Amino acid sequence: MRRLLVAGNWKMHGTRQSVDSLLKGLNQQDWPDNVDLMIAPPSLYIQHCLERLSGSPLYVGGQSCAYQAEPGALTGEISAAQLRDAGCEFVLVGHSERRSLFGETDEVVRKKFAAALACGLRPVLCVGETLEQRDAGRTAEVVGTQLKVILDAFGVGGLAQGVVAYEPVWAIGTGLTAEPDQAQDVHAMIRARLAMLDDEQAQLVQIVYGGSVKADNAEALFAMPDIDGGLVGGASLNADEFGAIARAA
Ligand code: PGA
Repeated sequence: MRRLLVAGNWKMHGTRQSVDSLLKGLNQQDWPDNVDLMIAPPSLYIQHCLERLSGSPLYVGGQSCAYQAEPGALTGEISAAQLRDAGCEFVLVGHSERRSLFGETDEVVRKKFAAALACGLRPVLCVGETLEQRDAGRTAEVVGTQLKVILDAFGVGGLAQGVVAYEPVWAIGTGLTAEPDQAQDVHAMIRARLAMLDDEQAQLVQIVYGGSVKADNAEALFAMPDIDGGLVGGASLNADEFGAIARAA
């Protein structure tokens, strides 16, 4: 019913040379045709990736965008409109690194989500709790608040135009993956919340898991009923591993 999405977040990795060899490797993969595929390279390399991946089923996305879509005096920023103009289909919003290291509040995330939708990009809304919050039994509350700001503004239908990425902060880049049923519990909780507002739309929302997804744990995660794919960081920098993760979906 729902298509799966496997997305790679390259973060601030790559040089012209390493990006070239990664693209070469990606172009040699055997991609499944029942899965949506996307990579989010550093902005500087987006154009090059789009050119090299033309004819490939991989979409390209931004890792972030400015909180306003209109051109303006925002030194250093890239707008959702510019990402769309370049040929991107997706943009990540509210990644935990943006929230914790760059002070992005739920309100900023809401504006970015709005800018993405207004420009025809599919925003990938990242939500997730820290270890401290999980240990305090606050996972549902934290994730619920991160979702609420988007739901209040755009409803479940608006959210369904994008993607939700559940990324427990304690699992990102740590090698600690949520157990498949641990992740499934949160995904089911998210979908139940959406269903309370609009059951029909809730069934359409892609909810992907992120946090140390690797070739050897992807299949078990993606087999869960409410896990609709993955947002892959470190492992997406290896073409063969990213290909294997996509084929596990
Ligand atoms: P990771 O990153 O796969 O390296 O844990 C995931 C992410 O931050 O999106």
